[in-house]
Amino acid sequence: MLVQPHLFIPGPTNIPEPVRMAMNLPMEDMRSPEFPKFTLPLFEDLKKVFKMKDGRVFVFPSSGTGAWESAIENTLAPGDKVLMSSFGQFSLLWVDMATRLGLEVIHCEEEWGTGVPLEKYAEILAKDTAREIKAVFATHNETATGVSSDIAGVRKALDAANHPALLMVDGVSSVASLDMQMGAWGVDCCVSGSQKGLMLPTGLGILAVSQKALDANKAQQPRMSRCYFSFEDMIKTNDLGFFPYTPATQLLRGLRASLDMIFDEGLENIFARHTRMATAVRKAVDAWGLKLCAKEPKWHSDTVSAIMVPEGIDANNVLKTAYYRYNTSLGTGLNKVAGKVFRIGHLGALDEGMIGGVLFNVEMALLDCGVNIKAGSGTGAAAEYFRSTATKSATSRENSGLKAA
Ligand SMILES: *Cc1c(COP(=O)(O)O)cnc(C)c1O
Repeated sequence: MLVQPHLFIPGPTNIPEPVRMAMNLPMEDMRSPEFPKFTLPLFEDLKKVFKMKDGRVFVFPSSGTGAWESAIENTLAPGDKVLMSSFGQFSLLWVDMATRLGLEVIHCEEEWGTGVPLEKYAEILAKDTAREIKAVFATHNETATGVSSDIAGVRKALDAANHPALLMVDGVSSVASLDMQMGAWGVDCCVSGSQKGLMLPTGLGILAVSQKALDANKAQQPRMSRCYFSFEDMIKTNDLGFFPYTPATQLLRGLRASLDMIFDEGLENIFARHTRMATAVRKAVDAWGLKLCAKEPKWHSDTVSAIMVPEGIDANNVLKTAYYRYNTSLGTGLNKVAGKVFRIGHLGALDEGMIGGVLFNVEMALLDCGVNIKAGSGTGAAAEYFRSTATKSATSRENSGLKAA
């Protein structure tokens, strides 16, 4: 008998049962006079997840990549100079997209395992006295290497240079799992998707935009071509609670259930739970004597860990062994780190027992592949960490007043 596979890739993530059930409903009329009563509060509630002070959120029937494209096409002009950095497969793909859409990219190529180069950004922005740079891009959480970057730091660099460029942030694997403060950090476009922190199937490209980004959209000259991802078409219909084309109604119903769960747990509690899960994984990695791809603690991601295998071991073997022998999906190494790392996605609907389970299976797969670790070392370290901090558990029944014997 094959039980439910253990899915520990950094998206799609596990879908909680209430969210899955909320999507199991008959098809509905997306032009009914009742539909706006559902969509308008949904748009408003999404803003809370991004902690916006103004602006609006667009929900496209696409993956996160579509929201990337929309952000660029609607706010920047062909040939505009933009500042970007790459240090992993996702930040690299964003540079590729910007280039292919006709932007002139100042590309800071950073070592994989590091993140957004704040000092370099500050220097480049300070030197740009002619204000030629129209937007600064930052990948909040590089999913390929398990690296989080300091978005408030990018805002500081912009402010120090008194620079008016837009701030564009990829939050696909951070939003709803790591703190995203669009308002406080002055983020103008924040890209997300449904299948990561929002615990839904793939299929919604979510783009939060500030009022400054909406103004840039109006002022954009010359205009970049766009159609499907146009802000204008969305605004016209969204204002009335509708969409310019057929929305993914089931996913929107799922999004409602997911937001309800998120607000019920509380954003700050969710961030703390992610830190807790990630810390346990890092304790296990330490106990195994292995290293993370992230070079320094300041880069450690609380949503995904990319773990380096020792010299002479092929990470793809670990992945295959986990998959075929232990029914467990781990994230692969992408591009430069292929064969060198495997990733554990620890975002979305997860608790201590699930993290313990994946660490147990990873431990067995590592041993099977000839990695010299001690059985029980990683799982033991994680268990000790969880037990010694048990009062902080967000998922414990004891939090609702019930007592263990
Ligand atoms: C997953 C991911 C993307 C791509 O999103 P899709 O939904 O696959 O299009 C982009 N950036 C980051 C950081 C991601 O983790």
